[in-house]
Amino acid sequence: MKDFLVNLLGRENVLHESAALAPYRDDYCEADASDPALVAFVTTTEQVQAIVREAARLKKPLTPRVAGTNVGGLALAPAGGVILDFTRMNRIHEVNDTDMYAVIEPGVTQQQLKDCLKERGGSLTLGYSLAPPHTSILANALLGGLTNRSLKYGDQSQWISGLEVVMADGTLVRTGGWALQGVAPYGQVPFPALTGLFVGWAGTTGLCTKMAFQLWPQHKFNRRLFVLTYSPRGTFEAVRRLVRREFCDDIGGLSWPSAKMMLGVKHPHPEPAPGEPTFILYVDLTADIEEEMALKERMLNDVLASVRRMEERIEEPLDIHMLLKVNPAMSPFAEFPTDLEFLTNHGGGGLSWVGTYGPLSKFEAGIEAGTKIMVRHGFAPMIVTRPMRGGHYGVLRFVEIFDKQNAAEVERVKVVNHELLNMCTELGFVMYKTPSWAFEVLKPRIDPGMLGLMRTVKDALDPHGIMNPGKLGL
Ligand SMILES: Cc1cc2nc3c(=O)[nH]c(=O)nc-3n(C[C@H](O)[C@H](O)[C@H](O)COP(=O)(O)OP(=O)(O)OC[C@H]3O[C@@H](n4cnc5c(N)ncnc54)[C@H](O)[C@@H]3O)c2cc1C
Repeated sequence: MKDFLVNLLGRENVLHESAALAPYRDDYCEADASDPALVAFVTTTEQVQAIVREAARLKKPLTPRVAGTNVGGLALAPAGGVILDFTRMNRIHEVNDTDMYAVIEPGVTQQQLKDCLKERGGSLTLGYSLAPPHTSILANALLGGLTNRSLKYGDQSQWISGLEVVMADGTLVRTGGWALQGVAPYGQVPFPALTGLFVGWAGTTGLCTKMAFQLWPQHKFNRRLFVLTYSPRGTFEAVRRLVRREFCDDIGGLSWPSAKMMLGVKHPHPEPAPGEPTFILYVDLTADIEEEMALKERMLNDVLASVRRMEERIEEPLDIHMLLKVNPAMSPFAEFPTDLEFLTNHGGGGLSWVGTYGPLSKFEAGIEAGTKIMVRHGFAPMIVTRPMRGGHYGVLRFVEIFDKQNAAEVERVKVVNHELLNMCTELGFVMYKTPSWAFEVLKPRIDPGMLGLMRTVKDALDPHGIMNPGKLGL
């Protein structure tokens, strides 16, 4: 395979020495490291097709990867496998300002598309995840990730209007409306929803080389307000009421230990100090005229007042720019995409989480149970929440940072994550970007018909088992 790749891509685009391969052997999380034999940088669809054909002939596993920040081992290759690094396949083929979509390659990053949209006049935005600016938009969409536009528009997979995919035999497939030649990629309907064959599959069914992706209007006025709350009940009653009024662009809830870490406290005590807030809510409001913004602020205050009447303590909203004057450490929360260095650059190198999607009605129960589990294992309860798609579901994520070189700490992360996963599943939450260990835990509870169908799809689309093997229990 090495000679083939060198001939196709050039020596400078194929890594094989162990020092060069080192960054690819693990990721942030506690998953076991695994040594790939080769890493190949691809830049064109034709190269990807040629590599897939050769890999099928040799039955050589291929693992697609961009920034490798999925926090679940999903872009780690099995020992001796080949990683296809898509970071250099990063063209923005089209941005359509009128019909509000972009056509992008896998290596296009959050920051890159943001800069491109800004250069074009800034009338559109894409919604940003809290992942670092250099992460792939396509990878996050394929994984059903969440962003600061997910309250309105759902997880990012719902914004895909079409995919171009290299199948396991090297053929090329287009899904969505643009499967009809000459048609612009406006959306997935009305053809059969075959985009779903590649969404949520973590690269195990095909390699995407282009994605047509919906963009959203950027409004003239933007305000990010922070609200301190003092109980899970008050916090999530406020969230559920805000969601139903439909005027917020984004609502996020961070547990107080997460907020403290954001403000520079390296290791907050697992137990809360008396009188501390429980959560900090951030609320994004946008508007095109000042009166519209003023009305939205009034509506926010109205909802918060209604929750205070339930004997819940909730502070007045504070603008991020006001807070920045008091504490510049808030700056990572002023503008997205952002680098949350307290998660990625804390010295120990380890970051893990149990991130789940589920019903807003169960947030309080999940937070109470999850807090107990984390505190029992000596972790400060770092919890991130967000209502999504108009409040039909939301994210509930329990986060740990740890020292990757400390075997006991790694083991503690594995144990706490198992307990958190079981608790979340029991309450009706499903882990997203599901790591292999979690898929094995969930397997006995997954509908056997669904598991059988997944197997059938996988076998049909990847008969030689070369596409990112070992993920999703496949
Ligand atoms: C600090 C931090 C905060 C984060 N916050 C968020 C958040 O707010 N919301 C969120 O959703 N996520 C978040 N994440 C998770 C993560 O960053 C996202 O999952 C990210 O978008 C993945 O992009 P990547 O470039 O790192 O992809 P990778 O990790 O390289 O790949 C992700 C998956 O896509 C597959 N893949 C890659 N390229 C292709 C391709 N061409 N075709 C098919 N499959 C492919 C890979 O095999 C892998 O399974 C966060 C991560 C960090 C570290």
